[in-house]
Amino acid sequence: MSKILMTTPLVEMDGDEMTRILWKMIKEELLEPFVDLKTEYYDLGLEYRNETDDQVTVDSAMATKKYGVAVKCATITPNAARVKEYNLKEMWKSPNGTIRAILDGTCFRAPIVVKGIEPCVRNWEKPITLARHAYGDVYKNAEMKIPGPGKAELVYTDANGVETRELIHEFKSAGIIQGMHNLKPSIESFARCCFEYALDTKQELWFSSKDTISKKYDHTFKDIFQEIFDNEYKEKFEKAGITYFYTLIDDAVARVMKSKGGFIWACKNYDGDVMSDMVSSAFGSLAMMTSVLVCPDGTYEFEAAHGTVQRHYYKHLAGEETSTNSVATIFAWTGALKKRGELDKLPELVTFAEKMEKATIDTIEGGQMTKDLALITSMKDVKVLNSADFIKAIRATYEKMN
Ligand code: NAP
Ligand code: MG
Repeated sequence: MSKILMTTPLVEMDGDEMTRILWKMIKEELLEPFVDLKTEYYDLGLEYRNETDDQVTVDSAMATKKYGVAVKCATITPNAARVKEYNLKEMWKSPNGTIRAILDGTCFRAPIVVKGIEPCVRNWEKPITLARHAYGDVYKNAEMKIPGPGKAELVYTDANGVETRELIHEFKSAGIIQGMHNLKPSIESFARCCFEYALDTKQELWFSSKDTISKKYDHTFKDIFQEIFDNEYKEKFEKAGITYFYTLIDDAVARVMKSKGGFIWACKNYDGDVMSDMVSSAFGSLAMMTSVLVCPDGTYEFEAAHGTVQRHYYKHLAGEETSTNSVATIFAWTGALKKRGELDKLPELVTFAEKMEKATIDTIEGGQMTKDLALITSMKDVKVLNSADFIKAIRATYEKMN
């Protein structure tokens, strides 16, 4: 059987610990036997980031901008313990933070749904994708403790020194205040990423905030979304047979709980932080969650939503058997290959990626899974496999499908 050919390289960002072990197994068992894999390789493992003074992370982001599609393995974000463990020159920044700052994207997270791992919310039949704005608001705030009586104001001074003031509160006692901001270009690019992603995945888009209370701040988000939708996306949405609507966040929460799923829910930074944890835990497991960074210029970076699974890695180093779930990492690869295939008009590559996803789901639904899933499944008599055997089982399922 001849291998599927690729034309443009995929940017491959290798990572750390247990996910680095899975990365190699996935390539050897599930990809290289079938695809003539063409990648531009960047080693984002902590040792090489340290050796290159983190230049490799910047280079990998620049390559992503150049080629348009990347797949990323989970990486360590160093803390004091890691500086000691890896004898680091510096406490390097989070690679995801560095990459996001260069690519300027929106993070979309969606659960991988399989029969036998039922969401806690019984009526959720399809995945709910959360789109989180990743800039500003309370994450870039200024706060003050007010010690006693006095006046607090918001003051904006323009380039000519002209001041505009707004009273926050006349304090009669001690209290607290908080100031936050966002930027029009950032909100615009957030909106465009959401509209593009909805078109790309042919799903309905919801956006919610608290505009009834926050008549200028949240209302600006609502207005920007509506304006961009009306001017740039309305017709495209009609053609694709999908809809966009805005609703108050209270209403959205109530509707989400009663929905069947199958849509994208766009949220402001804080709402997205909280709601993505709620949605992902209600769907079952972090190891069954995909994450993709979508940029306004149409650049995509695919990854798993979980970390490097450090505890399992130490067991692996100690020679013990591990049962680490590779599904989200497999889906990062298939997502990236599918996107590469679409952009380069390689239908065989797209079909391969879709089939590999199906083989992964079929393997689990057939009762073969890793320990984390065995603990939460409603299936009886499942077979718990170790990390390597699970990947081999997926290969066997895939080969039977052909
Ligand atoms: P983690 O790697 O997500 O693992 C936390 C726990 O969740 C694991 O100990 C394991 O539970 C379970 N788990 C997560 N993924 C799993 C999988 N694929 N299969 C089975 N179980 C899984 O988070 P962490 O331990 O807090 O962080 C470890 C390192 O990852 C840190 O250095 C952090 O900086 C990094 N990190 C990277 C990213 C990223 O690159 N996107 C994201 C988050 C964290 P049990 O131990 O109970 O089995
Ligand atoms: Mg959170």
